[in-house]
Amino acid sequence: MAAAPHPREKTGAHKQEDHAPMRLRTACPAPPRTWTVELRPYPDGLALVCRQCPHSYRRIAPVSARSAALAHLARHARGDLRPPHLRICQCRERGCRWHPRHRGCNGPIRLLLASEHGGRIWRLADTCTACAAATAQAALVPDTALVPSPPTATPRRRRRPKGPDEKTRVRDMLSYLAATLPDNNPPSARLLALQCALRADATLHVRLPRGVLRSLRLDAPEPWCDLERANWLHIAAPRTTREITARLLDTALLGQAPARPDRRRAADWAMRVGRSPRTEGNGPLEQLAATYLAAYADPSGEGRKEHDQMARAIGLSTAQLMLLLDQLRASGLLTAWWSCPDSEDLYWMLRSADGPQAAGEAQGSRTS
Ligand SMILES: [Zn+2]
Ligand SMILES: [Zn+2]
Ligand SMILES: [Zn+2]
Repeated sequence: MAAAPHPREKTGAHKQEDHAPMRLRTACPAPPRTWTVELRPYPDGLALVCRQCPHSYRRIAPVSARSAALAHLARHARGDLRPPHLRICQCRERGCRWHPRHRGCNGPIRLLLASEHGGRIWRLADTCTACAAATAQAALVPDTALVPSPPTATPRRRRRPKGPDEKTRVRDMLSYLAATLPDNNPPSARLLALQCALRADATLHVRLPRGVLRSLRLDAPEPWCDLERANWLHIAAPRTTREITARLLDTALLGQAPARPDRRRAADWAMRVGRSPRTEGNGPLEQLAATYLAAYADPSGEGRKEHDQMARAIGLSTAQLMLLLDQLRASGLLTAWWSCPDSEDLYWMLRSADGPQAAGEAQGSRTS
């Protein structure tokens, strides 16, 4: 029941101002910010069908199907840029049918990319953080993506975007790559993709010095070939003894990123935590796993994640992941790890890093 307005509020000179905002709020509702494409099997290939575009049926080669689907979705999202306060959780609008448990909407609205039916259906939608976390086979789109192209006459003074910290950027990128890279990509290709995605410039070119590649144990042609085969990048110039230059083909979702220095710092952070003394000398798999475990751990070094999500992000089967975690505990990167059979959650505790103030170790020595 609506309360009657207080008589004094509706009188005299204030009357017009009282009414003006009411009229503004009755504008036509904007179309929902959710888009879905299907990849339908077709004799000799696949067809891309968008549920929002009439007559969008288009035949595509299977090798480029995933990137075509993502590019199409991203075009929709780019064509409908709205200020944050006008974006609502599309999952809740549909009764939260996209995830099994309903935890209630919470947190900022981000774009969530989700796939269903083994990658036959891809959906991009505004989703709150809580619903995003509960949705399977999904990843938040890194927040640097999908900004509009800058207008030609930009004012001189450029505001430095105050973005998320390095750890959050790495986490978002790991989760995005887990959802978008083809499943058969090995850990070395995934570690390389992470570095390329974070280090790419606004034209999606990336130059990786040999020194960086050597310290990542990626100084071999295979990971590059894997990503070329996945249609994810293209080696742009002849390899030189000093560096490798490539162009990323995931133009839709990674283009126009505004905060390159931030992302480069995130790339450095990922390298640093991946190459801690306890994993140094190890290959790309151990480095990628160490980066993942650090990115998803809280400041005290404790982390939790569904084990199938971690396995997918680093390119292993669940059984292989368990063996790897044992190995990382033996090497001293983890003090402990365990998994909960009911919830399929994986828990871990990082041994404190090299610094003296690392929380886990300091606490351990005090309590023993
Ligand atoms: Zn469409
Ligand atoms: Zn929901
Ligand atoms: Zn929600």
